Amino acid sequence: MKTLSGKELAAAIRAQTEAEAAAGPQPRLAVVVATDDEASLWYVRSIAKAAAGVGIACDLVDLGPRAEPERIAETLAKLSADANVHGVMLQTPLPAGASAQQLAAGIDPRKDVDGANPLSLGRLAAGLPAFAPATAAAVMALLDHYEVDLAGRRAVVVGRSTVVGKPLAHLLLDRHATVTVCHSRTRDLASVTSTAEVLVAAVGRPALIGAGHVAPGAVVIDVGTNPTDDGGLVGDVDFDAVAEVAGALTPVPGGVGPVTTALLLRHTARAANLP
Ligand code: NAP
Repeated sequence: MKTLSGKELAAAIRAQTEAEAAAGPQPRLAVVVATDDEASLWYVRSIAKAAAGVGIACDLVDLGPRAEPERIAETLAKLSADANVHGVMLQTPLPAGASAQQLAAGIDPRKDVDGANPLSLGRLAAGLPAFAPATAAAVMALLDHYEVDLAGRRAVVVGRSTVVGKPLAHLLLDRHATVTVCHSRTRDLASVTSTAEVLVAAVGRPALIGAGHVAPGAVVIDVGTNPTDDGGLVGDVDFDAVAEVAGALTPVPGGVGPVTTALLLRHTARAANLP
């Protein structure tokens, strides 16, 4: 079984991004935060740190956990109109009553570096240029990096969220995979996932995918990030059990996560250089 680490790929993307960022005006990413969720705050701080490392300016716009949806909407509109800001991202979770999808519709699609505006998803579905959500793009980048053939292969995505599962299904379809999407109402999940040559788990449930869900030799990508009681992180895939069956498997942490952050920055550098 081959472990598909994301670390080297992330480093390569960061190096390329640093060169792209240095070639034009300094790219600037604005991350709007309205939560006191520790894991989210840790994530946005890690984005800011990674941005600094590649020469991208990153503003954390913290509106506080009680921000009204109107204030968030105004902030996104202002940042979208600001010529000095090239990428705009809205971090979730949001305060009760605020809809991420409705608010993300206010991000200029040309600055929508995490593919959160429904227009971006629509353009992806139509096969038109758009920023894909960084996580979905990271799964594709990992498959490409490890030269996993997709054309004509059976791909199963577990999870149908608008941030991961749905955009990923479109990206896989675009690459001519035969795609099945599973979700919480899927009956007999293992009978579907065990048909996959490429299996992606994007659910948010530790060890949902066990050895019985995986075909021998399958390539398994674990998007899940589930915090453990001891402060660690586990994926949706039971790594040790699935490693006995799969041909290749991403670790958590160290798989999809680092590539996601690197691609968010690449998207920002590209947004800064859009004609
Ligand atoms: P989400 O919005 O909660 O969606 C979860 C999906 O899983 C839903 O489609 C849900 O089905 C499905 N599901 C739930 N229970 C299931 C079950 N027992 N069997 C089959 N499907 C089931 O989550 P998300 O935002 O897509 O995130 C998914 C995971 O990826 C989380 O662990 C998240 O932390 C992680 N993530 C990682 C990164 C990264 O960079 N590595 C980035 C983003 C997210 P229904 O639609 O029927 O409810």
